[in-house]
Amino acid sequence: MSSLPTDENLVVCARNVSKRHGSVEALNDMSLDVKRGEIVALLGPSGCGKSTFLASIAGLVRIDAGTITLGDRLVSGSGLHVAPQDRRVGLVFQDHALFPHKTVADNVGFGLHGIGRAERRERVAEMLALVRLADKGHRYPHELSGGESQRVALARALAPSPDVLLLDEPFASLDPTLRVEVRDEVRSLLHSVGSAAVLVSHDIEDALALGDRLAVIRAGRVVQVDTSERLHRYPVDEQVARMFGVYTELPVTVGPDKRAHTALGPVRDDVILHWPTGPVVLARPGSLAVATANGTSTVDDAAATGVVRTREFIGYSVRLEIALDDGLDVVVDVTTESGYVAGDRVRVSNPSLA
Ligand code: ADP
Ligand code: MG
Repeated sequence: MSSLPTDENLVVCARNVSKRHGSVEALNDMSLDVKRGEIVALLGPSGCGKSTFLASIAGLVRIDAGTITLGDRLVSGSGLHVAPQDRRVGLVFQDHALFPHKTVADNVGFGLHGIGRAERRERVAEMLALVRLADKGHRYPHELSGGESQRVALARALAPSPDVLLLDEPFASLDPTLRVEVRDEVRSLLHSVGSAAVLVSHDIEDALALGDRLAVIRAGRVVQVDTSERLHRYPVDEQVARMFGVYTELPVTVGPDKRAHTALGPVRDDVILHWPTGPVVLARPGSLAVATANGTSTVDDAAATGVVRTREFIGYSVRLEIALDDGLDVVVDVTTESGYVAGDRVRVSNPSLA
């Protein structure tokens, strides 16, 4: 078996991986690292290549170009393809894929090879306890709830102590309430065993809940990979920014004072994003302030004026859409107590960006 010199903290190291399915370029120069104990969430729309990438790591797919290293072992690429069962990866799919005619205990023990019966039984019991199913080992999959099935699938994947756990849309078949419950459980489970994991999801909530880092995938490649907070704050483009909800894009210009300005006044350098379309500042609805246009106000003089176009109650606050006099539309959240209504003349400023 070949080995590559790699960072010993990397559990998965994928470099420039490409894979074609006929005329479809499922993976196009995809690179990603997963560190020891880290959960990386792959987030992207249906068809962007998430499952193909996971299957490539698992060895279920032969890649056309690039390399995949697991720990210090090259497993894919450079003419090599290590079989899935020799990769020390655990797999969990959306549909759980439990063996219907095997008991829960036999499902969990399925991947345990090369150990004695007693040891195997012990390991199965340990895993069932871990997923809180110690008393259900004798049951069959059809006698389990959706959440329990998912826990069995997880126990089965974790039983052989894989170096990395690969989860492909593991919550997709669960109803919304159960989904949040199972998600929280999976998170604490993964953290308690300290296993590295790659989670695939098209749902940002799943990714935010579980991922230590999020990799945004588009058309078979990683567009951006970072912590959720940094992705939210420094998105590389509009599509990444939009994943985190509503915002107003404020073009940046340099004022006579040599400072960076937007329509709402001066802004700090560290909030400026250098997008392909030019420098911009993203104003999230909660980061702007509104005051009555001609009353005494705490909003500074640099603030822009405009007219409230719509007022929408969104539960925890009120969302105003404001048409600024210079033509820009901004969205601002104010407290539910504020009485602004459509037609009000207001001043808008950006205290948290200045
Ligand atoms: P995702 O998991 O992000 O939804 P996939 O990795 O399943 O995306 O698919 C990526 C692209 O490759 C899609 O266009 C899909 O139709 C295509 N594809 C995936 N698997 C196969 C296959 N076995 N044969 C042909 N095309 C495939
Ligand atoms: Mg998929």
